[in-house]
Amino acid sequence: MKKTKHTVFEIINLTSGTFILRLDRNNFEFEAGQYVILRVPGHKEGREYSIYSGTADNYLDFLIREIPEGHFSGYLRNLAPGSELVVEGPCGFFIPDQRTMLGTPSVFIATGTGISPFHSYVKSYPGLNYTVLHGVKYSSESCGREAFISGKQTICSTQDSKGDFKGRVTGYLEKSGIDKNAVYYLCGNANMIDEVSTLLENSEIKPENIRSEVYF
Ligand SMILES: Cc1cc2nc3c(=O)[nH]c(=O)nc-3n(C[C@H](O)[C@H](O)[C@H](O)COP(=O)(O)OP(=O)(O)OC[C@H]3O[C@@H](n4cnc5c(N)ncnc54)[C@H](O)[C@@H]3O)c2cc1C
Repeated sequence: MKKTKHTVFEIINLTSGTFILRLDRNNFEFEAGQYVILRVPGHKEGREYSIYSGTADNYLDFLIREIPEGHFSGYLRNLAPGSELVVEGPCGFFIPDQRTMLGTPSVFIATGTGISPFHSYVKSYPGLNYTVLHGVKYSSESCGREAFISGKQTICSTQDSKGDFKGRVTGYLEKSGIDKNAVYYLCGNANMIDEVSTLLENSEIKPENIRSEVYF
């Protein structure tokens, strides 16, 4: 797999738990929705991260949750501008498919930093016919709102009432109803993906209309 070296431009702290890691682009080519493996030069250990920025941006952004007990995410948060990282990839096929590109209604469903590929989709292809559901604990964790067209994004927050819906994305889908003509894209933790997939399949959405990317 292709490996390129990139310089850290800056760490942009968004909340106590999340930050954007911004690297120079260094001619790196990718498709919206793909991920890379980030590694420290000279070390074997690496982790996968979806690209948060758009394909036309002249930098590479990653939206990262710092896991308190984790090894790698905390290390990334403390990198100084000018540090180098190895970017391996691009990897993955979680890109908008032909139907979505041609205007079929598409529903993007994320938990936490799983919003990242969808942020890249809408920055790269502003004309998509989409709605997005973002499941978070607190509404203040709903990063990247400015990239989504007003009214197309629903924040589902479980721990406060300041989002658009109090509860989980599954609760919102049960309440709002399922669009049987849409293509569904799910990204985030495996539990959410399992539960939403079951809900959609029980609502007669065919498996080929449900696409997913599992983070952990
Ligand atoms: C295809 C793919 C794309 C990914 N993209 C992103 C991304 O864009 N942003 C991002 O923050 N992470 C992303 N991840 C997760 C990332 O690769 C790391 O697992 C994460 O940063 C934790 O690494 P760590 O070394 O700090 O913790 P580790 O020591 O590896 O893990 C500690 C614990 O944290 C859990 N964990 C991992 N990720 C998360 C998370 N996001 N939220 C809550 N718990 C978690 C693990 O299950 C484990 O139990 C992605 C994973 C995959 C497979």
